[in-house]
Amino acid sequence: MEKNDFPVCLCLTGKTIQANLAVVERYRNTIDMVELRADCLDPAEKFLIRSFPEKARLPCLLTVRRESDGGYFTEGEGVRLVMIAKALSYAKDDASANFAYVDLEEDFRMPAIEEACRTFGTRIIRSKHYTEGMPQNLDEAWSRLAEEEDEIPKLAVTPKSAADLSRLIAWSKTLPQRERLIIGMGEYGFPTRTLARWMGSLFTYTSAPRDDMPIAAPGHTSPDTFVSIYRGKDTDEKSTLYTLLGGPSILNSLSPFLHNTAFRGKGKDALIVPLPSESIETALENMKLLGARGAAITVPLKEDILPYLDFKSTDVQKIGACNTIFLRDGGWAGYNTDADGFERSALEFLGREDFKGLKVTLIGAGGAAKSVALSLYRKGAECVILNRTISTARTLARKYGFVWGALDDRAIDIVTHYSDFIVQASSVGMAGMTQGDPLEFYEFEGHEKVFDLIYKPVKTALLARAEAAGCEICNGYKMLCYQAAGQYRLWMGEEPPVEYY
Ligand code: NAP
Repeated sequence: MEKNDFPVCLCLTGKTIQANLAVVERYRNTIDMVELRADCLDPAEKFLIRSFPEKARLPCLLTVRRESDGGYFTEGEGVRLVMIAKALSYAKDDASANFAYVDLEEDFRMPAIEEACRTFGTRIIRSKHYTEGMPQNLDEAWSRLAEEEDEIPKLAVTPKSAADLSRLIAWSKTLPQRERLIIGMGEYGFPTRTLARWMGSLFTYTSAPRDDMPIAAPGHTSPDTFVSIYRGKDTDEKSTLYTLLGGPSILNSLSPFLHNTAFRGKGKDALIVPLPSESIETALENMKLLGARGAAITVPLKEDILPYLDFKSTDVQKIGACNTIFLRDGGWAGYNTDADGFERSALEFLGREDFKGLKVTLIGAGGAAKSVALSLYRKGAECVILNRTISTARTLARKYGFVWGALDDRAIDIVTHYSDFIVQASSVGMAGMTQGDPLEFYEFEGHEKVFDLIYKPVKTALLARAEAAGCEICNGYKMLCYQAAGQYRLWMGEEPPVEYY
């Protein structure tokens, strides 16, 4: 299969045929086929299913998914059988007016329907959905799906961890080549959707997320996201693969968008995809299975990677955390681009060459704060580090001769003293994490310059309050771009393109 040929299937979960057709039009330029999820249709609409392929003018897959398989169909099997039979009946000479595929579950064995499909050229996708986990014996589950040579087996499972994902990927590599669909649903299965080609799948399923049209299955992206953010069409198994490693929150990261836009802009046959991982060991195992050449690493794995590095840059050694790795001479070389990224964006924000003479409050003492502390130190700031866990603040502060304190109202006076520049480097205020304002006990006077490393939301509660008091504010977006540019430089060995700036 040529690059650009990889088919994108849009799952249609609208309540009416008309609503579904409107969505088809919206995505027509991006998609190659559609799945009509007839289980989502209003009762009266079910009479219109037969004419759908003619109206959609794309290869159509018919699915009537039962509730027990993750769908919405709650009536009996008799009703479902009639629905499927009617939809496939009166086959026309023009094959494009018929359903190109029908999804029949492993336990749905109806010889009359199967015979009709074979006669009129409708391909059967023989499916099994494990919505609550993964079967112990994948071979056994597969053998029931792969019995008929002319059918397309589809196994959809729900990995509950990156270790489950490892098992799924490793197992998929043992299968003989044939048309197939192997899907991991949910957060940990996400890479099997973005890397559907790597899994040997015939196409990838996507959804059009809207209030009135639920996502067809957990982990679907929109067709646009698959194509433009994850480069699902213009890359393949021979492309150089990078991964973004971290907890499930990485699925909201802007980092793949930044890198993949830059890779495309520079004509690189490369892509980066998020690989949610609960441990660095499983992350590295999955990278090996997928043949990944490098990774961007984020919370909570930046420190865990250290024992696996064959080379540590000076910043990695000083900071004690690593956010960038790549294969060099058969081992992992580790770098940290956060300190440079912070430095460049913060100095731009302040309009300065260094931090000399500035009294700075740094909130947080985690991985990001460690990079910020190094930068503040080497560019001459005087600093207090405040953290919820005071012992961590103390350890970090001592490293650079800074002072430290607890992150509560006992710190009012000290923040007042160190208030030229306030840097928020804790995870408080980050979308999906702890909401709130870590400095709520302090009233801004208006002269403080306030920098929050968080970029989602664009304006945290802290930044909003500081701005309202007249302070100049900056979020972490530019830092993200600059640290990503540093990663590009390391991976590609050339200057990063404008896409990062
Ligand atoms: P981390 O290593 O997990 O550290 C988290 C920090 O937040 C620790 O200081 C922790 O304090 C503090 N914290 C967590 N929950 C808290 C709560 N409920 N109340 C008070 N403090 C709390 O994470 P990280 O890697 O340093 O990342 C921190 C933030 O920086 C994240 O929002 C991340 O997105 C952002 N970041 C942005 C960029 C960028 O390029 N813009 C780069 C890196 C990180 P304890 O020590 O007490 O647990």
